[in-house]
Amino acid sequence: MEPPKNHPRYVSLMTRDKLVRGWEEGLVATQGLIAHGRGEAFDYLLGERTTEEGDLAEKVSAAMLLLAEHPVISVNGNVGALVPEEIRLLSDALDCPVEINIFHRTEERVSTLSGRMRDVGCGKVLGERPDREIPGLDHARAMCTDEGIFTADVVLVPLEDGDRCQALKDMGKRVITIDLNPLSRTARSADVTIVDNLIRAVPAVTAFVRSLEKDPHLWKGIVEGYDNMENLENVLSRMVSTHLLDSGKS
Ligand code: ATP
Ligand code: MG
Repeated sequence: MEPPKNHPRYVSLMTRDKLVRGWEEGLVATQGLIAHGRGEAFDYLLGERTTEEGDLAEKVSAAMLLLAEHPVISVNGNVGALVPEEIRLLSDALDCPVEINIFHRTEERVSTLSGRMRDVGCGKVLGERPDREIPGLDHARAMCTDEGIFTADVVLVPLEDGDRCQALKDMGKRVITIDLNPLSRTARSADVTIVDNLIRAVPAVTAFVRSLEKDPHLWKGIVEGYDNMENLENVLSRMVSTHLLDSGKS
């Protein structure tokens, strides 16, 4: 049953429903449901809105993706269930491929996810025929494609595992992640960490790409002036401050 639109947790409840449907359709791993729960807890501490720090990281991500020669967007089960159209819009804006890259890999789930991304209009969906491995990871988690993640210079990996994020960094790539937990290893090893919910972050990055695409002279300055650790410290302070208690949030 759908919650009433004026329910204070409406968006959160609808997002859960979407994820459960994604699980029923075979897009989302059971573990993905648990990972979402951890994300929700951090989102609650943010007031379920995009903060100044999230907004800044979204802008820097857009500039970094625009500067990239070969950007790739990595898609896992939760991403495919929650924001497939939004990812398609971002990949259109950047004219870049998406690559299915899942932690709990089964060929069936890779194929279901690829189908979902094609259904929403993604032109280039990679990952079904991996022909390369990311060094330093075990075989199942290392698989990627030469055309995509292996040769990318900038990778957007929403909800990535910490070890894989580090392995991509060790390959010399710039890594952008979306992760509501500012303390996770992923958050701390990426070049840019967007501490915001996927459902808000992906459209926000696309909006920045669209607004910055005609001003290439601005891109470098936006990226160079950014300090990811400082931004993480700021968002963490925001989470532990008492401002939420004063705002009458239910
Ligand atoms: P690591 O320390 O290895 O990075 P982790 O704590 O991040 O581990 P994961 O299994 O990678 O553990 O968990 C997925 C991450 O995704 C969690 O940190 C969670 O906060 C985040 N997350 C879950 N759902 C969302 C969402 N909708 N938007 C943004 N982040 C999310
Ligand atoms: Mg992580």
